[in-house]
Amino acid sequence: MNRAIDLYARPTPGFDSRVAHALAQLRLAAAQHAGRIVQTTSLGAEDMVVTDLIARHRLPIALATLDTGQLHEQTLALIPRIEARFGLKVERWQPRAEQAIHFVARHGDTAMRRSVELRQACCRLRKLEPLARALAGRSAWVTGLRREQSGSRVEVPHEETDDQGRAKLNPLADWSWADVWHYIAQHEVPYNPLHDAYFPSIGCEPCTRAIAVGEDFRAGRWWWESESAKECGLHPSRNTKEVTA
Ligand code: SF4
Repeated sequence: MNRAIDLYARPTPGFDSRVAHALAQLRLAAAQHAGRIVQTTSLGAEDMVVTDLIARHRLPIALATLDTGQLHEQTLALIPRIEARFGLKVERWQPRAEQAIHFVARHGDTAMRRSVELRQACCRLRKLEPLARALAGRSAWVTGLRREQSGSRVEVPHEETDDQGRAKLNPLADWSWADVWHYIAQHEVPYNPLHDAYFPSIGCEPCTRAIAVGEDFRAGRWWWESESAKECGLHPSRNTKEVTA
């Protein structure tokens, strides 16, 4: 098997300044939102870079993940690895059990394949509702979004304001996939082994597959839907504010 590091890690012009910018942005936000800022990690490669930056520089930013009840075992296994490696607690935000049970009882466990509406309903109860609880009382959150990830993300700014007025920071907005893996290789950052099996973007198990050569970065997410429907609602269209960190 080709390791993702061997396939993708490349030093690219401007890499050091992109790392410095991401770090400065995180440092500033940690000070501005002391005690009220959280990284919401999907446990994918980008988020592992952000977690490493936070931990390496001892920034007071909490760490939370949405444990949807549908994650791959390889993804779940990263949580104790992160806690052991970085000495950070990962908050696990899960769907309300009664809502998840009711949804499956009513619509079946493959409902997300039957219509966009059912898929979005599943994402709402397993992701959006737990995210709202994870962000309650917080004034800023940090993501691993990058412009390169999909057509709907080409305008991701470094900082924006979410629909609740919170600061949403995307410190890797201008990073390339090669940058992400170069950083992971440089710092020996732990990552999900599914990345070594051609899963560049990893979500819930029923809704994620490996991609083939030449396919888009997010082709393995909700592959039965049209391109325009392919977001789970965690990152709706934005109110942007570019900042210099
Ligand atoms: S990604 Fe799939 S399994 Fe996960 S919450 Fe959305 S529809 Fe449900």
